[in-house]
Amino acid sequence: QAKAAGRNGVCFFDRRMQADMMARALLEMDLRQALAQEDFALYYQPQSDSLGQVTGVEALVRWRHARMGLVSPLQFIPVAEETGLIVQLGQWILLRACERLAAWAGSPETARLTMSVNISAREFRHPRFVEQVQETLLRTGADPSRLKLELTESLMVEDIKGTIAKMESLRQLGIGFALDDFGTGYSSLSYLKRLPLEQIKIDRSFILDATLSRTGGAIVHSIFQLGRDLGLTVVAEGVENEAHLDFVLKHGCECYQGYFFSAPLPDSALPAFLAMHGVRQVRAVRQGNCSP
Ligand code: C2E
Ligand code: MG
Ligand code: MG
Ligand code: MG
Repeated sequence: QAKAAGRNGVCFFDRRMQADMMARALLEMDLRQALAQEDFALYYQPQSDSLGQVTGVEALVRWRHARMGLVSPLQFIPVAEETGLIVQLGQWILLRACERLAAWAGSPETARLTMSVNISAREFRHPRFVEQVQETLLRTGADPSRLKLELTESLMVEDIKGTIAKMESLRQLGIGFALDDFGTGYSSLSYLKRLPLEQIKIDRSFILDATLSRTGGAIVHSIFQLGRDLGLTVVAEGVENEAHLDFVLKHGCECYQGYFFSAPLPDSALPAFLAMHGVRQVRAVRQGNCSP
């Protein structure tokens, strides 16, 4: 079939590749400009405890594009990673998230909220990452013990020693860690006990499966069990409906997020949401809770 396509087939393929490369290059140029202009916004997805009270939020970046409107991070984070622009973008994200966190500390209703921030592998591996986080904390006055960094399994595969060392030095500052998209990567379970983690976040694909099949349910059940055995909070992601929520609560879920509780909200919509749902105020007894 490939032969039958002949020169035209090859030619077409080349053109398409060229078009892809052009689109990429344009996107990269756009991204650079957007960074200079700060055309980004953070949305915050509330996280709930088992009683429906807000324990914290996850910051999720959006690109405010002049022509395309709000662009999903799924579309530009990979390009930012490839081009290295993620380092600069990540700094901006952390700064904004820490500013929000510091502002919350001023009011007793919000002072206990945690802020989770996604960190790309490339950002984390940057030699000045720890310093930069420290600078941002100093500059904003945010409480490091309210900050959680979400890392993915890709970091565990390569240079595990270096990863642990960096995590340890950030933990010295009081910062906590969550392992994001748990179960979708290739990391070995043995890393779980070596890493200074507080949370594992079950990827939403597993939550979806859990309510659809017995084996799917068994997997999620085992992850909760594993979390309990290792003293880690298991956060359920992508809880979209009552069936999902019933399932995770039945298996001892202490913390979840998803459209059923709330979509990611713009800054302006947060106060009303918090006022409606209440922020968990009780001090958690077990270490590693959603809001320790
Ligand atoms: P993630 O960290 O796993 O974030 C969860 C994603 O699931 C978010 O998508 C969120 O909006 C979406 N979500 C939340 N609840 C539900 C639900 O009930 N159903 C469904 N179907 N989806 C739900 P979003 O905001 O598009 O972000 C996608 C990914 O992009 C994130 O996955 C994260 O890996 C990356 N990302 C987002 N913001 C940042 C950031 O500030 N920095 C970095 N490095 N990566 C980010
Ligand atoms: Mg995340
Ligand atoms: Mg995730
Ligand atoms: Mg992710």
